Amino acid sequence: MTGRELMREAERARRRAYAPYSTFPVGAALLLRNGRVIPGCNVENASYGLSVCAERNAVWKAVSEGELEFAAIAVTAREGHGAPPCGSCRQVLHEFAPRILVYWRNARGRIVKGRLTALLAKPCDLKRRTTR
Ligand SMILES: [Zn+2]
Repeated sequence: MTGRELMREAERARRRAYAPYSTFPVGAALLLRNGRVIPGCNVENASYGLSVCAERNAVWKAVSEGELEFAAIAVTAREGHGAPPCGSCRQVLHEFAPRILVYWRNARGRIVKGRLTALLAKPCDLKRRTTR
């Protein structure tokens, strides 16, 4: 699956976003190593701190279904808004796939990509006990 195809899945997921407070719908599509795609959208709550990003929504869904092998993730927001994953989502992705390939749209609408290793310089990593 290409980055463009994965982004199309993220855009489809964005249409299901529940974002009445921010009015900033975000969609994500998590590509598993087995080829399956898990969609996610942001889900907000009147108690703002309970809201969750699209990326973490997709990760929770995958893990709850026993899927732990992630290959790539695409994230998209409204046209004209860049949507790289936030710091919290980067840390959550690192837990399962430290080298995952991340696609997002920049503010001009172009698809850009990067490895999580480049997006999250100093992750909290208790499993690997690295000295980063
Ligand atoms: Zn996030």
